[in-house]
Amino acid sequence: MGINLNTPEVESREQRLGTIISWDGKASKLSDESQAMRRGCNSCRLCDLDGPFSQGRVCSEQMVECQAGNVRGAVLIQHSPVGCATGQVVYSNIYRNGLALRNLPVENMRAISTNLDENDMVFGGVDKLSQSIEDAWERYHPKAIFIATSCATGIIGDDVNSVAEEYTAKLGIQVIPLHCEGFKSNHWSYGFDSTQHGILRQLVKRNPKKQADLVNVINLWGSDVFSPMLGELGLRVNYVVDMATVEELSQLSEAIATVGFCYTLSSYMAAVLEKEFGVPEVKAPQPYGFAGTDAWLREIARVTHREEKAEAYIKKEHERVKPKIEELKKKLKGVKGFVATGSAYAHGLIAVLRELGIDVDGSLVFHHDPVYDSGDERQDSLGFLVENYGEVPSFSVSSRQQYQFYGLLQRVKPDFILIRHNGLAPLASRLGIPAAPLGDEHLAVGYQGMINLGESILDILAHKKYHQDLAEHVKLPYKKWWLKQDPYELVKKVDE
Ligand code: SF4
Repeated sequence: MGINLNTPEVESREQRLGTIISWDGKASKLSDESQAMRRGCNSCRLCDLDGPFSQGRVCSEQMVECQAGNVRGAVLIQHSPVGCATGQVVYSNIYRNGLALRNLPVENMRAISTNLDENDMVFGGVDKLSQSIEDAWERYHPKAIFIATSCATGIIGDDVNSVAEEYTAKLGIQVIPLHCEGFKSNHWSYGFDSTQHGILRQLVKRNPKKQADLVNVINLWGSDVFSPMLGELGLRVNYVVDMATVEELSQLSEAIATVGFCYTLSSYMAAVLEKEFGVPEVKAPQPYGFAGTDAWLREIARVTHREEKAEAYIKKEHERVKPKIEELKKKLKGVKGFVATGSAYAHGLIAVLRELGIDVDGSLVFHHDPVYDSGDERQDSLGFLVENYGEVPSFSVSSRQQYQFYGLLQRVKPDFILIRHNGLAPLASRLGIPAAPLGDEHLAVGYQGMINLGESILDILAHKKYHQDLAEHVKLPYKKWWLKQDPYELVKKVDE
């Protein structure tokens, strides 16, 4: 599928994977309808419901900002109007928190905007780009420079690739164009692919010296839960992309396997590492709940030849966590949860909630990939969820539209929500529903993750009264006629 390191641009998720951002129905139906794409039928794509408007989006350029901008020792240049770079404030904050969480030296992210204006839109902006590269070099002497494109540079057609090539030769470091114009894809996860494509093309070693115990873990800023788990199998972790150094990125090809905490994020990089660099991608369910974690560890063990160690670890962990999970189940009996996160991550979280005996009648995922880049059935995270943990009756795909979220919560009336990308959490609060914001995205990973998540839910339920008080004293901005509508009413009408 669409992997070509000879070109500086990566195909969009819509083209490669048939990604959609609007759908409504049961989880099993979405899983069934995705099967054809998984079998390689490119003309059997899922249909996106077409909304009449969008209340807000995150764009792929912002994902490049938070990935390439969070590589230690590198600088990101955003070749864009300054508005595209406003995310630097929040992503610098997240970067600092992530570094602290991993006990790494805390620093600000290094990012520069070329600050394109009306004049540049008419006469071109490459002079500003060249100046910014020289400024970045003078200020920081980075080990690599990333250049993110934007809608503006996509429209005027600045030749970013030639400038990058010129400065790669001039400075003796890799200057890497990342094509991520916001209009190029409907979903922000394309920004992950764009960053990963640039790293794979220009930073990863072509003649690697294999490190027999190194495993790539494609992740974001989460706490270091993978080192202790993989350490039990005698393996070391190479965390990428956020907070990795340029050297750690270059050794991606030296590892003996690649895993991720979420296939939405790891799909492209892991598939390319296998196809172009011979680093096997671990093709298994994601490491959530007993079923997923057992299968994930066994597959890592098979790929790295550590079966005995894995079995001993699995047995030890089952014995350790099962009594604690039984206790949590008693405390969480009758509780209803709702998951609103990125796609594959939501599949994992729902599995953990079900392990804890929590009812999950509804979920909102911000997009849906019918297949991941490997095309391998063992990575069918939605199918695995339905088969092992049962149906999710209200399973909706929507790219964070506030106007739909109210109706989705009303359908199932949960006691709490799990959410990443907090823009929707205040709305839940106004309805009296507390949210666990999942700032540490590794919280629910593995065996210990079930205990962590159960305890976090008990914590947020303890604050329920506060949210109920809020609900009694605030007014929603919507009119009554709207609140009575089905959340997909307008979308379906447009689709018809
Ligand atoms: S790249 Fe485009 S969509 Fe993204 S912030 Fe800039 S203008 Fe907006």
